Amino acid sequence: MTDFRIGYGYDVHALADGLRLVIAGVEIPHTKGCIAHSDGDVAIHALCDALLGAAALGDIGLHFPDSSDEFRGIDSRILLRRVAALLREKGYRIGNVDCTIQMQRPKLRPHIDRMREVLAADLGIGADRVSVKATTTERLGFEGREEGVSVAAVALIYRD
Ligand code: MG
Repeated sequence: MTDFRIGYGYDVHALADGLRLVIAGVEIPHTKGCIAHSDGDVAIHALCDALLGAAALGDIGLHFPDSSDEFRGIDSRILLRRVAALLREKGYRIGNVDCTIQMQRPKLRPHIDRMREVLAADLGIGADRVSVKATTTERLGFEGREEGVSVAAVALIYRD
């Protein structure tokens, strides 16, 4: 019988003026970027946690500690590829992933398809199995005040 697993991930990064903004592996032109030990890719971090959570393999902080120099400024796509490889080692395949980015500005719609392609390539699955959605929070909360970005992600994995 197929062993299906579902996982959930959530991440938040604060925004600051003059930093690069990289979300789901795509650099987005903006006046602000995420403060982080890595490149601050909040979507990939949430997605890694969803995938690790599905396999009950801990979380991103356990595998890639932000106290480690190895991960300073690292391209988060490397982390995502490592998580995908870890799941493959454990015999899992990825069914699909879905994430929602909560951010007031800028409009992410023009970048969504590229994000899906990038994530799909790193996960080794088709882009039809990767969903990326974006929403504002109607100017409410830290996302609405443009103080930060949050991403919620879910992943379904399975093995026979
Ligand atoms: Mg993070």
